[in-house]
Amino acid sequence: MKQFRAVPKVTPAFDPSLKISMESSFPILCKHFDLILISPKLFWSIPPNSRTGFSFGGSFEVPLGIWILAWKRGIGVNPCIQCGGKAFALYSAGAMSLGTSQGFCSEYGKAFHNKSWSPGTWVFLRKEIDERKKALGIVDRTYPEGLRISDLVELIKG
Ligand SMILES: [Zn+2]
Repeated sequence: MKQFRAVPKVTPAFDPSLKISMESSFPILCKHFDLILISPKLFWSIPPNSRTGFSFGGSFEVPLGIWILAWKRGIGVNPCIQCGGKAFALYSAGAMSLGTSQGFCSEYGKAFHNKSWSPGTWVFLRKEIDERKKALGIVDRTYPEGLRISDLVELIKG
């Protein structure tokens, strides 16, 4: 059986290829969910290390809009251990009962890493991606083109 790595090499808080910090940008993103959902270029933008993985189903990148659909249903949402506000996962992976989530506080952007995980998150994300790609006529493994996350942040900052 293939070794399953549940934790990404780079934490989601910092990606050296980006000029922005996700911690400082995340609360801004959280104020613009509805805009991101209606703009395909924003919807299909993939934040650094935004992935989900399930030992029985494989691992794939998750566009920001797909995460927002999940968060709006309470999937990938946990109380922030620092402020008690909502913290949203941008990374979620595991086996049946054991796994990990990573993401950011919606209020202050503080990165988190915890043991909360559910295979249901993977199932939801996979289904949403597949259905939306199918509606666009995309049948291979690619996604519609989205903005780089740093460009997305610049755009919504206005
Ligand atoms: Zn917080």
